[in-house]
Amino acid sequence: MALVPFDKLQGKIWMDGEVVDWSDARIHVLSHGLHYGSVVFEGERIYNGKIFQSRAHSERLVRSAEMLGMDMPYNVDQIEQIKRETADIQGLDDAYVRVVAWRGSEQMGISAQATKTHMACAIWAWPSYFAMEARLKGIKLQTSRWKRPSPDTIPCHAKAAGLYMICTLSKHEAEAQGFDDALMHDYRGYVAEATGANIFFQDGKKLHTPTPDCFLNGITRQTVIKMAQDHGLEIVERHIKPEEIPDFEGCFITGSAAEVTPVSIIDEHQFVVTDDIKALLTGYDQLVRA
Ligand code: PMP
Repeated sequence: MALVPFDKLQGKIWMDGEVVDWSDARIHVLSHGLHYGSVVFEGERIYNGKIFQSRAHSERLVRSAEMLGMDMPYNVDQIEQIKRETADIQGLDDAYVRVVAWRGSEQMGISAQATKTHMACAIWAWPSYFAMEARLKGIKLQTSRWKRPSPDTIPCHAKAAGLYMICTLSKHEAEAQGFDDALMHDYRGYVAEATGANIFFQDGKKLHTPTPDCFLNGITRQTVIKMAQDHGLEIVERHIKPEEIPDFEGCFITGSAAEVTPVSIIDEHQFVVTDDIKALLTGYDQLVRA
């Protein structure tokens, strides 16, 4: 199947207060966001015509902008309205929602005091991040040589474009070695997360998950923690050392795009897709469509 470039998709995009044709949603090359990474964004999914956890995503977008010192021209209620309006126009039952906010071309240089924050919302049909077959068998992760940075080197709790530079490097290196994604350690050497998803490990009826003190405490992660507790699993949030990985029986990642995706391999260590992990995968698929 030939890939259609993202600027050639069909439909409308909401951009700076206007609804424009997909191909007209353009920015100038001298936009501050493009040169200096002053960009925050959200990735969300529409299931059966409804955006799952929409408000939590809008709130995080506003918080991310605050962390980067960017003035948001819209509040949470307005962002909610913009997403609904764009979703109605696109009219897709199952889709991905991308809201992005960036500093514009009003000023060029490190200082950006005169820039305005621009915002766009694009919605397109996007199936599972990992193919369903690969998802059920479990995906393969390779440990990255890049580390999640410490909280005093970057606003690590923002969903900001700049934080993904090392994620793309890590994912490309993993893919080149035949893996699906990379596992990133943090600046202290603890297990952190995948390149766009949080991670959980199973040991008996316990799920161990890294404390999100230098990376996103994902909205899916929080949903899955509640689901797992209702399912009778105990959640242990703590620092996890890479040497502990062989002690775990199961592993999975969570994210708005990745949903609940089992992991079968981290480097040379193999995991089982346990019945509990299958139940969480199915439970999540049901919850988002409820
Ligand atoms: N970590 C990173 C680096 C991510 O990009 C994402 C996806 N936004 C997550 C974790 C999971 O976050 P969420 O469940 O809110 O999508």
